[in-house]
Amino acid sequence: MAIRIAVGALGTGLTREETTWLQRALAGTGRATLIVPSFAVRDACRRELARAGMGVGVDVLTLGAWVASLWELLGDGRRLVGGLERKLLMAQVLAGAPEAGEGDAPRALTPGIVALHARAAAESLPYIERAGEAAAAREGDAVAPVLSAAERALVQALARYGEELDARGLTEPSVAARLIADQVRALAPACARAVAVHGVPELPEYALELLEACAGAGEVLLCVDAGMAGMAAQLGRRLGAAVERCAPRDPDAAGTAADVPAARFAEVAGPSARDAAHTVLVLDAARAGDVVAASPDPLALARHLAPRLAARGVASRVEARLRFSETRAGELFFMLIDVLDRMGNEEPVAWWPAPELVDWIRSPFAGVWSGAARIACASDKRWRGSRLVDADGVLRELRSLQSNETRLESDRAQESGAARRPVAVFDVLEALGAGDYRAALQAMLGVAQAASPGMFGQGGMVAKQVEVAALGAALACLADARRLGTPPAAALPVLSDLPVKVSAAVEPAARGDGLGAVAFAALDAAAEGAPASAAAVLLLDLDADTCPCARQDTPATVLARKLGCAGASATPAERQRVTVRRALAGGRAGTLAYVARTREGEEVFPAFALDELKNALGAGAAVVAGLPTEYALAQNLDPSGGEGLALETVSCTPAHALPRHLAPYLYLPDMVWRGAVVPRRFSASSIEAYLSCPYKWLVTNRARSKRLDAAFGPIERGNFVHDIMQRFHERLIEAGLMRVTPENVERALELMRASFEELKADHARGKFTHGKYARQGAARVRSPYVPLGELERSRLASVLPMLEGVVRAEADMLPIFTPELFEYSFDAADLRYAGRPLGGRIDRIDVAPDAGSGERFVVIDYKTGGSDADMASPDPTAREDAEAEVSTWIPGRDRDKAPVVQTLIYAQAYRRIAHASPQGAAYLITRGPKVAAMVDEALTSMEPPAFPSGRVYAFPDLPAPGKKSKKPEGTLGFTEMLDAVEAGIAEELDRLEAGEIAPAPAKDSCKYCPIKMCEKRR
Ligand code: SF4
Repeated sequence: MAIRIAVGALGTGLTREETTWLQRALAGTGRATLIVPSFAVRDACRRELARAGMGVGVDVLTLGAWVASLWELLGDGRRLVGGLERKLLMAQVLAGAPEAGEGDAPRALTPGIVALHARAAAESLPYIERAGEAAAAREGDAVAPVLSAAERALVQALARYGEELDARGLTEPSVAARLIADQVRALAPACARAVAVHGVPELPEYALELLEACAGAGEVLLCVDAGMAGMAAQLGRRLGAAVERCAPRDPDAAGTAADVPAARFAEVAGPSARDAAHTVLVLDAARAGDVVAASPDPLALARHLAPRLAARGVASRVEARLRFSETRAGELFFMLIDVLDRMGNEEPVAWWPAPELVDWIRSPFAGVWSGAARIACASDKRWRGSRLVDADGVLRELRSLQSNETRLESDRAQESGAARRPVAVFDVLEALGAGDYRAALQAMLGVAQAASPGMFGQGGMVAKQVEVAALGAALACLADARRLGTPPAAALPVLSDLPVKVSAAVEPAARGDGLGAVAFAALDAAAEGAPASAAAVLLLDLDADTCPCARQDTPATVLARKLGCAGASATPAERQRVTVRRALAGGRAGTLAYVARTREGEEVFPAFALDELKNALGAGAAVVAGLPTEYALAQNLDPSGGEGLALETVSCTPAHALPRHLAPYLYLPDMVWRGAVVPRRFSASSIEAYLSCPYKWLVTNRARSKRLDAAFGPIERGNFVHDIMQRFHERLIEAGLMRVTPENVERALELMRASFEELKADHARGKFTHGKYARQGAARVRSPYVPLGELERSRLASVLPMLEGVVRAEADMLPIFTPELFEYSFDAADLRYAGRPLGGRIDRIDVAPDAGSGERFVVIDYKTGGSDADMASPDPTAREDAEAEVSTWIPGRDRDKAPVVQTLIYAQAYRRIAHASPQGAAYLITRGPKVAAMVDEALTSMEPPAFPSGRVYAFPDLPAPGKKSKKPEGTLGFTEMLDAVEAGIAEELDRLEAGEIAPAPAKDSCKYCPIKMCEKRR
C-alpha cells in the first residue's frame, strides 16, 4: 500500500515535500487531489499551486467536498445529506422516539443531544449497519451485553435515522465514502490515484478507509503538523505506515516555536485592567500597521475594545459566528416560548412578574413604535406591584396594546403618507402560543426590517443587519424542517444551534496618523491567515478556562471506539498548540496575553499553548511591562484611557457626618398630605428604628426606596395576621362573647376559622368585603398575602393553626380585661409625644373597670415573629448598681440590645388621649404563642395573674407576697417608667434633629437591616 505519513511544520501553504509530491503525481497520472482542513487553507493552497505552475490538474478540496465530488462520479444516485438536514432529521427521529423505559428519566430534546446524535450519525452510521448492531439493538439481544443503556439508545436512534434517510433517497457521506472505496478498489479511477492530505486535524474512519482504497489504486501522502505528533502516531498505527519527517516549504516557514517572530507575553493584572491593558497592546501594535486581535470570544473582545480604539483613531472590524439563540432576536424568541409555556402550564410563581414580556415590549422586534420604553416601564411597575396579576390578564393587556399601536400607526401613516409599519407585540405571542414559529419569526422580521437602526442600540445599522440576517436564516431553517417533515417543536433545538455569521465595523471620527486597522477574529480564523500578512497578531484571553485541553468522552465517542470506527484525530492540546502557533505566524510580530486573576481575586492559569511556547523560548521570551494595573481605576474605566481627565483632590465631610447647615433638612416639621400642609408626625416604629441605629433610620425612613415587587414576606404575613385578629375579635363581639374564656374556647375557635377564611378570600381578591375596613369603605387590601405557588400556599395555610394557638392562649390572659379597641388609629388626636407630633395605630387595647385612677387598660401589639427575650426589659431600679432615681430610661440599652419601645409609646399615648390608667404594654407573639410584657405590679400580684405564662416584668419590681428576694426592690412604677422612656426618647430625638446620623448599632440592630454593605455592621 502506497501510503506515506510525513510530519513537518505546516502553515496555511504547502510544504516543499507536498509540492514535489504533487508535481510528481501530476507528471504520472495527470491529476491529483489535495485535501485541506478549511476553505481559507484551500484558497491559500490554490494560490500557491498556481504560482508553482500547477493551477490546473490538482483539485484542492475539503474532506466533505472530496467525498461529494467522488459520489457525483461513482455514487448510486442518492443525494448526500447536508449538515442542517442531518440535524433536522435527527431531531425528528429523537422527538418520535418511544417513551423511555421504566426507571429511565425522559430525555429532553436539547441542542446538545441533537448535536451529539448528529455527529454520531455522520461518523458511525455505516459501522453500525455493518456490524448489524442496529438490528440487534432493536431486538434487544446480541448488542445488549456490550453496550451501555445510553449507547443502546444511541444505536437505536441511528438505526431509525438510517431508515429516514433511505425513505428520502438520502445517504450519509460516511456511508457514501465506504461505497466509493469499494468502487475505487474495483475500478481504480484516475481521480483517486493520487491524493494528498494537508494538515487535517481529524480524519474519521470512513475517510481513512477511502484513503486506503486510494492507496491501493495509487499513492497517498498524509502530511501532519509537527505539533500533532500524537495524531501522526495514531495514523501510523491505523494505516500500518511509517511516520517520516518532511522539510518545510521555505526556510522561513512558520510552525515551530523557533519560527515564531518576536513573540511577547503579557500578563494582565485583573479584569478591571483588562480592557485598558488590551487597548495598550493593540494600539502599540497598530503603530506598525494592520493588526489581528484574536480571542476565544472575538465578539466580546470587539464589544469592549472597539469603542476604546475608535476614541484613539483606530478603525476595527469583527467577523464571527453566533448561534441563533445568541443573537438578540434568537434570545427573545426562545425566551418568549419559555415564558409562554410557563404561563400556560405552571403556577404563577413560575412566571410572575414576567420580566421577559417587558423586555419584549421594548425590543426592536415588537413594533411598539410610540414610547416603547415608557410603556414597558409602566407595565413592569404594574405587574410587579401586584400578585393578583394573572396570565390571561397580562396577555389581554398586550392584545390591547397591539390594537392601540396598530390604530396609532395607521393614523400616523395616513397623516404622513408613509407606509404603515407592522405591529407584532401580541401577534408574535399568539403565534408562539399556537406553535406557529414561522409566523412568529416572520412577524419579528417584518418589524426588524421597518425599525430604525437606532432601535438596535449602539450597534446601529450593523446590529440591525445581524438581526435581520439571523431571522432570515431561522426562517430558512424552519422551511427546511417543513420540507423534511420535522415537527416545528422538534426543530427548535436545531434552530437554537443554527450558526449565524456576524460582521461589524467601527470607524473612528478621524483615523489616527500612521495607525493600522484592527481585525477581531476567532483563534481558528486567525490561524488561517497567510503567513506574516499582518503587522502583528495579538492572541488575547488565552487562559486555561477559555482554552480547555480536556477531551470529553460522550456516548458517541465511546460507541465509536467500541465499533472500531474512532478514526484519527489530534487531541485538544495538539490543536491548541498548532492553532496558536499558526495564528502567530500570521503576523510579523506576535503577543500572547491572559488575565491573571478573576473578579474574585482568584488566580487564573494561562492556556497550555501559551505556557508551552513561553517555556520553549526560555530566557528569550520577552515579557511586556508597564501595562495598566487594577490601581489605575479611572483610566481603566474611561474609554479614552483617562486622557484629558483632571485629577482633583476635594475635601468632603467624613463618612456618616451631616454638615451642620443640612441638619434642619434632616427631619422637616411639615409635609403635604392630600394638598394641605400638615405637621410631620413621628411613628413608634420610626422612633424605634432611630434608637436601634441612627443610620438605619436615615436610610429606611428618609431615603426610603420603594420595593419593586409585591412580596410574600413577613410584612404581608404580618398584615394578614393583623387583619384576621381584628376580624376575629369583631366576630366575638358580634356573637356576644366579647372575649375568649375557658368556657367558650371551642366556639371562639370556630369564629377564628371563619375569620381566617374570610380574610384569605379578601386578600386573594385584594379587596375587603368583611369587617370594619369594608364598612369604612377602605376596600383595598394593602400588601395582600397572595400565594403564587404550592410552597407559598402551605405557608399561608400554616397561619390558621398558629392563630388557633393564640385563641387558646387568650382564654387565660388578662382575665378581668375585655378587648375593646382594635387597630385603633390616633392620627386625628393631634397628640404630642416626647415634644413632637406622634401618629400611629394600636393593634389592640384591652380595658378593665376603674379602680380609683381611671379606666384601666393594657395595650397589645401583635408580632408574627421575633424573640420574647428582646421585647421586654426588667425594672432598671431593681439592681445592686441601680441609680437612686431614674428620670430617663431607654430599655435595652444597658444590655446592648436594640430598644423595643413601641408598646410603651402607645401606652403613654393612649394614657394621654383617654386620661386612663395604663396597666401594661404587651407583645403577643403569634408564633408559639408567647407573651412579652411590661406591666404594673398590680397585674402580677393579682390572682389569677394577668399573664399566666410569658416573659412578664413588673414595675416596680417587688418580691412576690410572702417571699423574700436577694435583689433590691424596684422603685420605678409603671406610669413613671412610661414617663422616663418618653424623656429618654425626647433626648434621642433632640440628637436626631441636631443631625446625628452616624451608625451606632446595638448587637442585634443589624440582624434585619437592609443596608447590606454597611461597614459598621455588627
Ligand atoms: S448595618 Fe447595622 S450599623 Fe449599619 S446602618 Fe444597619 S443597623 Fe446601622
